[in-house]
Amino acid sequence: MSVEAKAKYHGKVLQVAVPSPLRRVFDYLPLPQQQASREPQAGIRVKVSFGRQQLIGIVVAVANSSILEKKKLKPILASLDTEPLLNDAVFKILLWAANYYQHPLGEVFAAALPAKLRNGIPLREKSKVWTASKPSTSQASLLGRAVKQKALLSFIRSAGEVTESKLRQAGFSKMLLAQLLQKNLIEEHSRTEAAAASFEALEPESNFDLELNEEQLVAVTTISKALHGYKCFLLNGITGSGKTEVYMRIMQKQLSKGLQCLVLVPEIGLTPQTIARFKQRFSCLVVSLHSGLNETERMTAWLQAKDGSAGIVIGTRSAIFTPLANPGLIVIDEEHDASFKQQDGFRYSARDLAVSRARQESISIVLGSATPSLESLHNAQCNKFVHLHLTQRTGIDQPSAMEVIDVSNEAMTEGFSEQLLYRIRKHLQQRNQVLVFINRRGFAPILNCQTCGWICECENCNTQFTVHANPPSIRCHHCGATARLPQSCPSCKSNDLNTLGIGTQRIEKFLQKQFNHTPVIRIDRDSTRRKYSLEKMLEEINKGDPCILLGTQMLAKGHHFPNITLVAILDADSGLFSADFRGQEHMGQIIVQVAGRAGRADRPGEVLIQSRHASHETLQTLANKTYAEFSKSQLKQRMSAQLPPFSHLCLLRAEASERQPALQCLDAIAQFCQRFSAHNSLPIEQLGPLPAPMEKRAGKYRVQLLLKTNKRGNLQALLSSLCAELEGMKLPRSVRFSIDVDPQDLV
Ligand code: ADP
Ligand code: ZN
Ligand code: ZN
Repeated sequence: MSVEAKAKYHGKVLQVAVPSPLRRVFDYLPLPQQQASREPQAGIRVKVSFGRQQLIGIVVAVANSSILEKKKLKPILASLDTEPLLNDAVFKILLWAANYYQHPLGEVFAAALPAKLRNGIPLREKSKVWTASKPSTSQASLLGRAVKQKALLSFIRSAGEVTESKLRQAGFSKMLLAQLLQKNLIEEHSRTEAAAASFEALEPESNFDLELNEEQLVAVTTISKALHGYKCFLLNGITGSGKTEVYMRIMQKQLSKGLQCLVLVPEIGLTPQTIARFKQRFSCLVVSLHSGLNETERMTAWLQAKDGSAGIVIGTRSAIFTPLANPGLIVIDEEHDASFKQQDGFRYSARDLAVSRARQESISIVLGSATPSLESLHNAQCNKFVHLHLTQRTGIDQPSAMEVIDVSNEAMTEGFSEQLLYRIRKHLQQRNQVLVFINRRGFAPILNCQTCGWICECENCNTQFTVHANPPSIRCHHCGATARLPQSCPSCKSNDLNTLGIGTQRIEKFLQKQFNHTPVIRIDRDSTRRKYSLEKMLEEINKGDPCILLGTQMLAKGHHFPNITLVAILDADSGLFSADFRGQEHMGQIIVQVAGRAGRADRPGEVLIQSRHASHETLQTLANKTYAEFSKSQLKQRMSAQLPPFSHLCLLRAEASERQPALQCLDAIAQFCQRFSAHNSLPIEQLGPLPAPMEKRAGKYRVQLLLKTNKRGNLQALLSSLCAELEGMKLPRSVRFSIDVDPQDLV
């Protein structure tokens, strides 16, 4: 039976998405005619009563009937906008994403809008203006000898209309204004700020003399030819090959037609330097959207994008939802970066949504990376993306040579083999800089008791506390819990506590002792927490004096260090044998990215990778062949294991303060999934329900069920009916259930 046939009410109905965890829209009646200034339309905000609350929702559609009876339908309380907040493309992407990621629509809109708009603030602030009343001599004579009031009145008459700032500039007080108002000599009006004008099309660049190399030229020409419509390009270029230069040339072309460009960068990549680089190059307004903004700044930048007054919008993940008046191009830099996938709440992939959005807006999109994700490489192989290559470093001759050091039989000192220490010394003696990479911050990952074997674990999580040196403390890297460093074992009272494993702080201490005349600069999340501390460290390094740069993956992004000639990867094995099927891919990307920071023409770089499994094929391919070869062999493995991109995954997760309810919840869901796929003959594999690899995190037990299929459509069909079923299933309140489509993190 169709919805129309079931309808109990015929007439205009607003389907409203409200910020609630329910995955559906709610029907409301429009305001009665005499109160509404305009026909209601999709995309505007409305205030509605919802249960006992008053909420702000978005009209998703205007329907002609409802399955509810008239007496159950409430009219909206107010309509907050006269125009849709988001342009059509962004609106459609959000509807699509809510459906694809199975996330409540109201929460999806909430994620896309600046907080001020979510809270109901008008899109454009109203301002007051004053005009003179119709002249009447009798009234004017009221002023008598009030010279100042007379002056103000004639000022307003000659200006026609004045704003508060005009009055202030002319030196009139608010009191004078009030006096005129009281005598009815002037009238007060409120006026909505007009949208700012679109930015002016940029002149073609004339002051730029950089000559593109042949590959850059091919890339720019190929992309330029496709700029009239949708196409997705994968710009696969080694670090320093001039990808950014290619983006900027294409952006220039669009900006000169008055079209806006949206540039997404990874969380760590959005540095003041990145923004400065674009500001320096282009004369149009460049706005940035990131987590460091306050709400007023965010709202301003968002409006400038929406109005079309900003030519370039640079932002992290959520900037993908910024409406653009005149969209011309989307660029995703470092497209492989994991920060493009949101890991909680609305678990979307900004990269994937960007591709959908570009298609929706009929514009082109460029995904750039030195180490593209296997997903994107696969799309290029299937001809969904156009693959462009930049294989030459501009102005830098040789990419660094990689070598694996076999440490399986070596005595190691604080994570360093003798050979590695020798090589570091040599590079420093030649007055070069050295980079040491380890993906673990803190002093040591384990604190244990030598006497009884007790290990210091976080009570909230299934994981050890990391020991930190400054101040001496233990911290959980998963829930943020922190405590004083224990002086004795709580289990056997022995004082014989020992730290195991290595972290950046421990290595810093060791290197300072080993190379006591050389500065050691540690770059990790702890050392760069203070504002500008990273900039200061980078400045120090760029002076060029011999130093050891030590850090985590923060080093793998954005910055180039021309004086570094040796890159040491302390430990490749954790990535090689990770529980996560993407472990090797991520290891390869990080090694190649870190290696790309080093070397220049007169001083070619060296990369040394320590491993206990030096002959491992994956490592050998990475070290002796190209990233392209490496990713090809990774893709082969994924294909034979039928893992993404050759299949599609969805992770269903239940979390609760106890294990049992979480497990029960997923058991019920697993049974539903089984019945549904059997009934509809959908080949969907189920793994679980099983405890998550890290079963307890931040005080919650986590159980998960992994669904796998080779057709997205199958999964979507299952998830949609699962969500419909869930509404009636009444999960225990204590269980939090979540759906992660295309999960990045299975731990
Ligand atoms: P990527 O983004 O691929 O890492 P960039 O675009 O940042 O590379 O380029 C690296 C450096 O090379 C920059 O300083 C840039 O100005 C310079 N560069 C880019 N293209 C050329 C070129 N064709 N000739 C000379 N230098 C170039
Ligand atoms: Zn003990
Ligand atoms: Zn914890």
